[in-house]
Amino acid sequence: KKYVYSFGNGKAEGNGKLKDLLGGKGANLAEMSLRGVPVPPGFTITTEMCRLYWENGQVIPEYLKEEAEAALRRVEELSGKKFGDPSNPLLVSVRSGAAISMPGMMDTILNLGLNDEVVEGLAKLTNNKRFAWDAYRRFMQMLGDVALGIEHEKFEKKLNEVKSEKGVKNDLDLDADDLAKVVEKYKELYKEEGKEFPQKPEEQLWIATEAVFASWNNKRAIKYRQINGMDKMGLLGTAVNVQMMVFGNMGDDSGTGVAFTRNPNTGENEIYGEYLLNAQGEDVVAGIRTPKDISTLEKDNKKAYDKLINTMRKLEAAFKDMQDIEFTIEKGELYFLQTRNGKRTATAAVKIAVDMVEEGLVSKDIAVTRVKPADIEKLLHPAFDKEEVEKAKYFGKGLPASPGAATGIVTFTPEHAEELKAEGKQVILLRPETSPEDIGGMDAAEGILTSTGGMTSHAAVVARGMGKTAIVGAEEIVISPKEKTAKANGITVKEGDWLSIDGTEGKVYVGKVKTIKPTGLEGDIRKLLDYADEVADLGVRVNADTPKDAEIAKGFGAKGIGLCRTEHMFFGEERINKMRRMIVSKTKEQREAALKDLLPMQKDDFKGLFEAMEGYAVTIRLLDPPLHEFVPHEESAIKEVAKSVGITEEELRDIIEDLHESNPMMGHRGVRLAITYPEIAEMQVKAIMLAAIEMVKEGKTVKPEIMIPLVGKVNEFTLLKERAEKVINDLLLEHQIDVEYKIGTMIEIPRATVTADEIAEHADFFSFGTNDLTQMTLGFSRDDYGKFIGEYVENGIYESDPFQHIDRNGVGKLVKTAVDLGRGSNPRIKLGVCGEHGGDPESIEFCHLVGLDYVSCSPYRVPVARLAAAQSAV
Ligand code: ADP
Ligand code: MG
Ligand code: MG
Repeated sequence: KKYVYSFGNGKAEGNGKLKDLLGGKGANLAEMSLRGVPVPPGFTITTEMCRLYWENGQVIPEYLKEEAEAALRRVEELSGKKFGDPSNPLLVSVRSGAAISMPGMMDTILNLGLNDEVVEGLAKLTNNKRFAWDAYRRFMQMLGDVALGIEHEKFEKKLNEVKSEKGVKNDLDLDADDLAKVVEKYKELYKEEGKEFPQKPEEQLWIATEAVFASWNNKRAIKYRQINGMDKMGLLGTAVNVQMMVFGNMGDDSGTGVAFTRNPNTGENEIYGEYLLNAQGEDVVAGIRTPKDISTLEKDNKKAYDKLINTMRKLEAAFKDMQDIEFTIEKGELYFLQTRNGKRTATAAVKIAVDMVEEGLVSKDIAVTRVKPADIEKLLHPAFDKEEVEKAKYFGKGLPASPGAATGIVTFTPEHAEELKAEGKQVILLRPETSPEDIGGMDAAEGILTSTGGMTSHAAVVARGMGKTAIVGAEEIVISPKEKTAKANGITVKEGDWLSIDGTEGKVYVGKVKTIKPTGLEGDIRKLLDYADEVADLGVRVNADTPKDAEIAKGFGAKGIGLCRTEHMFFGEERINKMRRMIVSKTKEQREAALKDLLPMQKDDFKGLFEAMEGYAVTIRLLDPPLHEFVPHEESAIKEVAKSVGITEEELRDIIEDLHESNPMMGHRGVRLAITYPEIAEMQVKAIMLAAIEMVKEGKTVKPEIMIPLVGKVNEFTLLKERAEKVINDLLLEHQIDVEYKIGTMIEIPRATVTADEIAEHADFFSFGTNDLTQMTLGFSRDDYGKFIGEYVENGIYESDPFQHIDRNGVGKLVKTAVDLGRGSNPRIKLGVCGEHGGDPESIEFCHLVGLDYVSCSPYRVPVARLAAAQSAV
């Protein structure tokens, strides 16, 4: 079995595809070498060896030493130098590198191979005594610090002793003899630490190699893998790269630098980078000297510059992505030490992806994978100015419920928020939690902050729907509407104070932080998302209740409405009273009279939606929440409402009492409401169809889809469908017109999923309401689970918040069952998802895997969903 892969001189045993085995650095060094890019020769010890090292009691086996030493002989041949030979020494670097780049593992050791004799040889050979002794003392320091656990500070202390003896401050003021003294002091330090500085280069090599392997499981590295979900990726370990040293610090014809093939900030197709003349390795990043812009290298060294640019272009074409490279020039000779796919800003990611398609470098399939869905989101929401945020005073944190950044003055009541807004002020609404009555205030606010509730709480869902920045469940912030204060971390914020909330990060700051506006769906983002639509199998619709939201969503590329929650239409100033009159009606006649008032309003609502989404399907859900949500609960409001609907306070209180349920989420709502109050559903169906009829009469295309919520048993559905069809047929007959429509159901009760075959026989579509389905399947109240979900996730009971990422093994299995049963009995059935999961990339992937037709999400998530849908299909 092979554990060592050589590279150099236009050859390599490995290649760029072997990242799992050789690590990213090693695989790309091999690939560069194969492609004739000048890389200093070397070899890579595989990640598999790292695993063996840990499995076999942390010893380096003899057979590895033999194999590596053979590879080292090849490096000697290629370089014409010899490891440990003072007359012509080969020095190497020992570099770690896992399949995925991973800070937290061992640092690179440079100049390995130096000892008391070799340093003299190097000095003579390079005719630069200072350089040689500086390299030696640096190597001793790195080996001691990185591999042998001797603290960095202790080396610094010794170095400072020599400096103060000489009376200088700067390293550069030490000459070769001083540095030789430093080396002596370092040797003492090794002894003080109970170690001996290893003089034998071979021994040095194995100490360093072992340190790299050992660093794979140090605390920092383990933690990093956990945080980034890398612990479940089956990584074997880190590879070790041993590579001939080249020196950028041999005079002004030498240098070192880093460069990108495109501008990582803007994405502009231009070489971007920095370098230092007469410097080694990390001097560029270390910030001791200010590096020069790469463009000036042309003047400093035209030959190296031209070669650098050409090779970088070649590398980008080969790796088909923006490259981030390290280079060193030794006496005019250019070497590449690393290439990898470069990190970039969200803006750059989009531009580079689109440019590369237009340049014919990558296909659209590939381009859509080059941008993280979260990045798209970042580009569409206002964000805080980075510098200002660093200066801002931190207040507290909560769940990042709705992304963006908002700043405004603090208010604690929705009414006040509306007043302030009317005065032209920016406000942030602080509530312990929000309820449907708060809608107006939420709409008026720039941002919303609540102290309770989870990612699917009312505040979160509504805020996302509005594209409003929101933080929910900020438990550490005590919000008191009574005292009109919010307290956290020893700070008290009062009504009228400025507050800034970052809904992307979930962080709150005291004061006014400057925001930067999004660029919107323009230019490159638009193009990228058009590619996404071509690549994706899933369609993307929007959850929208108003024509305004529908318009916004259409601008973001939504193709239809997947969920219109009609209850939101009843909260408006003028509606709520009519709705309440309907609710408090004692007779069917009274109720019908009230509904008759509501009908034209509903019809206009629907017409508006149809117009905004002309040509696309519009799914309208019949009234879903229990009626108690529409009646007042506060004393003062009861008085007012009783008066305005014309009954006594007593009567109203009785009605409220009557509507009270101990478990409203599983209460008298959805289809159950439609069954007991047929008039409500009939009015809504009528309004939908009247609006549709108007559309057809105006020569417009309309595709209404009537959705019945909360069905658990087929009989519920068939009864409702029969009633709806009667209403529809009467209307169509009356208007002598034909309108195509669909009647389907929301699948959100577990029973419905397992009897989906029966329901599908009668339904034109299913829309999975995964919020309720999750709530009912897990038995987690979506408004209260915030109290324990943190610990559940911490203890690994659930991998993540199941309301955020669909619980594939539980809820997902039910969805899959319903898909299979549903398609089995009705192959033409249309399937979608309209829960909050419809906007979550991870859940969208699941929707793709089970073969849904579309996902539906809030307007501002549409772009993210389009990209995620495409990525699932690649
Ligand atoms: P990191 O992953 O931290 O970048 P590297 O292994 O890439 O670690 O190396 C750190 C620095 O040392 C880089 O600037 C790199 O170019 C330089 N370096 C590594 N190996 C050599 C070598 N053989 N010759 C010259 N410089 C080297
Ligand atoms: Mg590097
Ligand atoms: Mg529901």
